[in-house]
Formats: sequence, structure tokens, C-alpha cells
Amino acid sequence: MALGLTEEHQALAGAVRGWAERHCPPDVVRAAADSRDSGAARYAAALGPSLAAHGVAGLHVPADHGGQGFGLPELAVALEELGRALVPGAFLPTVFASAVLAAADAPGKLLDGLTGGARTGAVALTPGLTGRTDARGGLLIDGVAAPVLGAATADLLILPVRTDAGEIWAAADPLGFEITERSSLDLTRPVATVGGAGVTLPAERVLGGLNRTTVTGLAATLFGAEACGIAAWAVATAVQYAKIRKQFGRPIGQFQAVKHRCAKMLTVAEQAAAAVWDAARAHGEPGIPAAQREFAASVAGVIAVDAAVSCAHDAIQILGGIGYTWEHDAHLYYRRALSLRALLGPSGQWAERAAELALAGVRRPPRVDLPADAQELRADVRAELRDIAALDPLEQTRRLAADGWVMPHLPRPWGRAAGPLEQIIAAEQVQAAGLRAPNLFIAGWVIPALVEYGTPWQQGQFLPPTLRGELVWCQLFSEPDAGSDLAGLSTRAERAEGGWRITGQKIWTSLARQAAWAICIARTDPAAARHAGITYFLVDMSAPGIEVRPLREMTGDAIFNQVFLDGVFVPDDCVVGGVNDGWRVARTTLANERVALSSSWAYGSGVGELLELASGRGDGWAGPQLRPADLRQLGRFVCDGHALDMLGLRITLKQLSGTEPGATSSVRKLLGMQHAQQIADFGWAVLGPDGALGASRPDEGTPGASGAGAGAYWSRQVLFTRALTIGGGTTDIQLNIIAERLLGLPRDPEAP
Ligand SMILES: Cc1cc2nc3c(=O)[nH]c(=O)nc-3n(C[C@H](O)[C@H](O)[C@H](O)COP(=O)(O)OP(=O)(O)OC[C@H]3O[C@@H](n4cnc5c(N)ncnc54)[C@H](O)[C@@H]3O)c2cc1C
Repeated sequence: MALGLTEEHQALAGAVRGWAERHCPPDVVRAAADSRDSGAARYAAALGPSLAAHGVAGLHVPADHGGQGFGLPELAVALEELGRALVPGAFLPTVFASAVLAAADAPGKLLDGLTGGARTGAVALTPGLTGRTDARGGLLIDGVAAPVLGAATADLLILPVRTDAGEIWAAADPLGFEITERSSLDLTRPVATVGGAGVTLPAERVLGGLNRTTVTGLAATLFGAEACGIAAWAVATAVQYAKIRKQFGRPIGQFQAVKHRCAKMLTVAEQAAAAVWDAARAHGEPGIPAAQREFAASVAGVIAVDAAVSCAHDAIQILGGIGYTWEHDAHLYYRRALSLRALLGPSGQWAERAAELALAGVRRPPRVDLPADAQELRADVRAELRDIAALDPLEQTRRLAADGWVMPHLPRPWGRAAGPLEQIIAAEQVQAAGLRAPNLFIAGWVIPALVEYGTPWQQGQFLPPTLRGELVWCQLFSEPDAGSDLAGLSTRAERAEGGWRITGQKIWTSLARQAAWAICIARTDPAAARHAGITYFLVDMSAPGIEVRPLREMTGDAIFNQVFLDGVFVPDDCVVGGVNDGWRVARTTLANERVALSSSWAYGSGVGELLELASGRGDGWAGPQLRPADLRQLGRFVCDGHALDMLGLRITLKQLSGTEPGATSSVRKLLGMQHAQQIADFGWAVLGPDGALGASRPDEGTPGASGAGAGAYWSRQVLFTRALTIGGGTTDIQLNIIAERLLGLPRDPEAP
């Protein structure tokens, strides 16, 4: 998913992409890389003025300074496209300078030339310049600012200057400074050192209202936006090559090592886009606390440029020898990504800051700004739920189910045929009214299959009690020899008078002992192709011939079981979706299982507990001794968790605007599962010797308690979270789904 979500942003992205295709195709980039000035002259003569004439250089600048009066999100959308095209020259340093000026108290006329394309700018990020006040209240500047992006050709420099009163930011003309162009790692954009020996700067050139946090936050956002474009280019280039390059008689994209690498690249790029999107949004959000804005920028500072670097690495790897050549453009993108990372500062440093902010209590929860018509809808929903809230608890559940509030997206009468907006409002208002819909667990993915494929009798019989949470279900799918490859199942169902007799063994069946009914798939036509001879049954768990044997999990609990079926009779009216057509129904169940698992226990989960541990909030304990490396790692988890939340928010917004979220939900599931595991591993590891303590009960211990309390909690988490990357489709299967269905890479070869 590209940075921009709205129709306007997509149109803007399309327009900038069109501009890049016309004015800056790959041969222009290549010519810049081969030229002595990294394309600076071409930028000054043609590209810069053209971008300014199209209004791109002033997207974020107020109209009274010659800009378009939009904001950082629009500039980020444009930068992503220009990064994808690797546009050479001074665009990024110039818009960075104008964004810094726009954030200053009184930029005066300084902005005008930068937006008009006549002048270029550059911002130094490294300290190194010092200033003394001169007789007229101005500054005398000495020292050297080390490599500054775009300084070699800039008409205006924004410089940090250390003074007795602290660091100030000043806008200086390059005249008087010693600008020394240095050999640039990024062949399409020059860098230079800026040296001063008693250079005079008039007092009015000191910029009020700026500090390092604001300037570096803008850098993280804008560099991050360009980095998203680089990451997107790398994913597209690697995937395109993996589809056509053949080795061992197959496209290399059919080898899982390659296809999984491509899928992981996509997840990294999506996470980067979510982080930068939020940082850009935060910049202009009215009333946002400064610490929250800094937090969002820090997340982008950690994630986005690293994403560009790692996607470029991976693209080069997938391209093989050709990726290491001078002729291929991969190294031009890689160089730019590395250069952005070097100039922005190490991601560990940004992660440390994110950790400090999070430990100080800074949060930025996902928030959806609902459209104008939401008010009316909210009032209606609130009124209906108010009546239900007045009932006694049993009656409340009954009415929630009967009125369609339990799964409002389902068609009536089971749900409310609610669109995304009504679903959001329903969830919000059910909670606000103090109501609780029953926890459906496995029933949550049985219901949609029955709604879509069930007979009227099945729907009438099973849906009402299931929606009320009265009927517990289990899922008899996996078998000892059929897990990921479910279609290889061997449990068979044979014709009997008035129905079928099922014989076989199921395994890993969660809640089999508690369940009254099961969904079960069994082979009804052994002669048919694997997927064709399978039927989907509803099985009464109290029927003769069923034996359930508990299986203990590694945590010591026994939630899942083995289920043996010995000639279990199932009447014809318990076949769902037609004999031998069960695979289609099972796919609906599995798809809903993936969605359900992804939106509950898998995501962003654990960050709050980790922070509780790190600050020892449980029982007055000061928390474990975190080394600087631990703090950085903690910061990375905080950033990943926030990016996951933002991925979720972006999916919701896409649904609200009526467009499919595309890749994002599968990506979010995969990242979320891994994230929860990594957090558990880390929380356990920082405990040191207390990690050797175990839990004897599931609810034992709390994340931030001292000694045994934390040990019990985190050692259980380490064990429990192993299940996340297995149940509901393993990591490898998820990567296959992303690679094949979203990136269009070839499917694994069929077994002979
Ligand atoms: C907590 C938990 C609850 C569960 N509850 C239920 C339930 O209620 N009902 C039910 O029916 N099942 C349930 N399962 C089973 C679950 O769906 C399976 O464990 C899962 O689909 C994997 O199957 P498997 O265990 O046979 O592993 P396998 O499929 O044998 O996989 C073993 C390893 O091989 C890898 N692998 C397999 N195929 C491929 C491939 N094509 N490419 C690359 N790698 C591959 C896997 O990623 C994995 O690492 C549950 C599992 C867990 C952990």
C-alpha cells in the first residue's frame, strides 16, 4: 500500500509518478550518476524549476509564502514517488529546508525562492558550528558542519549553531562559508562540508521557534518518505526479476528462499509506509502534544530508512550477479538508502529516544476521524443499545445476538449488514454502553461459513445459540498427516442410511472436551482429486464413536486434544455446502480464522506489558537493569508495535473509504505474530536469573512484578507465544500466501 490512502493522495501520487516518468526516466538518473556533479546542474536547470512549476516544491508551504498550502502528508506522498524514481539533485534538501522554515516563527521572505524553484536549500543536522554574539547583536560563526546533504549547490543554508545560550538555528547565505564538496556515496546527490571562520550572520537570520527535536523530526519524516519510495522500488524490482529469471528449470520466484525473501520485503515496506504516514500526519495535527509528535517521528526514524536499506540489500541478493554490477540501478538506490541512514543518524539512537518517550508515558493510540454522517448514526446506535443495557445480563446477551450486534457485518437477520463505519460505531458504542458480546472463539469462524453455505435448517438450528455464546464449537480439521497441507486429510466419511459414518483421527483440536458441536472435514470421494472429494460436516460431539483424549501443551495446559472418530453417524442434514464441495466451505472458515486471529491475540500485543516490566510498575520494584543495548531493543519493539497499530488503522481507513486493504491485512498478521513472540523472548531475557522461574498456573505472575512474579509471567509468555506462528497457518504458509496471492509469484510445485 502506498503512503497516500485518500483519493486525493492517490491522484497526487499518480501525477508525481507521471511527472517522473516524463522528466526523469532511468537514463536521466544514470546520466546524473555518471556526471561529475551528481546531476546538480540538471536539477538546477530543468528538474527543480519543473517540479516547482507543477507546485510540488511548495506542497507543504502556506499559500502566503508561495506554496500550495497543504501539509507534510502531501509532501510525503510526492517524496515517495520521487524516491521511487530516484530523482537526482536538490529536491529533498530544498523541501527539507522549506519545511524547517515553515515551522519557524517568522520565516519572512526566505521561503519564497525555495518554493518557486529559483533557489535550493540545505539543512545541516550535525553539530560542529559555534556562534558568538557580535557588536551588532548578530553572530560570528566558527567551526565545521560535517557532510550536509545538498550544501554544495544550496542558495540557503539552515545551520545549527551552538551558543552560550544553547543551540540555535540560523538561515545563512553560503557566501562567506567555506563549502567543500565531498565525494558522495549517493552518486545522484552531492554532499559538502560547511566551514566557517568568523562568518557574520545578522540577528534577523536567527530562526525563532525551532529546536533540534523539530528539525530532526522533520528529517525523519521526509527522509523516511523518500525511503518508502526506495523500498517500494526494491520490492517491485526483485519480484519482477524473480518471475522471469530461471534456474534449475524453474523461475527463481518458485524457490521458497526467494519468494519468502520477497514476501518479507513487502512486510518491511508496508511497515515503513505506516510509520511515515503517521509521522507526517502527526506533524500537522491540531493540538497534538509535542512529545506525541516526537514519538511518531522517532518511529519513522527507526523504521523507514532501515526498511529502504534492507529492501535494497534483498533486491541485490535476488538479482544475483547482475545486482552487483555497476550497470544495474540497484546500487544507485542502495547508495541513496545508505546515505539517508548515515545522514539521519543510526536507528539505534532513534530507538533509544522512542523507548525513553514510551517509558515516560507517551502514547499515540490509533484514532479514526469518522466522517460527518457518523454523528447521526452514532446517535441511533446509542439509542438502540441504551434499551439493551437496561435489561438483565442474560437478556442483554440474548438481545445483542437477536438484533445482530454480535457480528454486525453479517447479513440480516444474523448481523446488521453493517458497513465499515457502522461496525466501528457499533464496537465503540457496545463498549460505551457497558455491554459485552459473548466471546465466540472458534464459533467466530464457524458462523460465517454457516451464514454463507448453511441450509435454512442449519442456520435456524445453530446460529441463534452460537451467536448467544451458548454453543461451544471445535474444529476437526488437522490430522496427524495433514496440517499445513489440509487437503491431504485421510479421515473418511462413508455413505450410511440417512447420512454418513465418519472414521479417522483428528489432532490439535482446541476445546474438543468443552465443545458441544464440531465442524469436521472428511474425504467422501477417495477417487476424486485431493481438493474435490472432501465434505464439510457438523458433528455432534456427544455422538457415539467419538473419543477425546487431552493433549498437554508445552505450557502445561491442555486446551487442545486428539479426537478419534470411529464410525460416527452424521445425518444428511448436517452436511454443509454439498457433498464433495467441502473444500470451498473450509476455505471460508480458514480465511475467517486468519482474520480473527490477526485482530485479537496476535498484534502489537505485549508492548504495554513490556513497558510495565521495564519500569517495574507492578509492585514498586524498579524493574530489571536495562543496559543501553536493551533500551534500544525495547525502543525497536515500541516502534514496531506502533507501526503495527498504524497498519491496522490504515486498513480500517481503507475499508471506510470503500477500497480493499489489499496486502496489508496478511502483512499485519505475519508481523504481529512475530512481534508478540519477540516481545516475549525479550521480556524473559532481560529478567536474567528470574527467567529460570516458571509458572504453575496460567494466571500466575504479572509483567512488572519483581522476582518470581515477573519470572512466572514472562516464562509462560515465551512458551505460549510459540503457538502464534503455528496455529491458523504457520509463518511459512503465511509467507507463501503473501508471495503468491499478493505479489503474484509462482506457486510451489505440486507433489509428484
Ligand atoms: C495452539 C494451537 C491450536 C490449534 N487448534 C486447532 C484446532 O482447533 N483445530 C485444528 O484443526 N487444528 C488446530 N491446530 C493445528 C494447526 O492448524 C496446525 O498445527 C498447523 O496448520 C500446522 O500444521 P502441522 O502442525 O501439522 O505442521 P506441518 O504442516 O507439518 O508443518 C511443520 C513445519 O513445516 C513447515 N511447512 C509445512 N508445509 C510447508 C510448505 N509448503 N512450505 C514451507 N514450509 C512448510 C511449517 O511451516 C512448519 O514449520 C492448532 C495448532 C496450535 C498450535
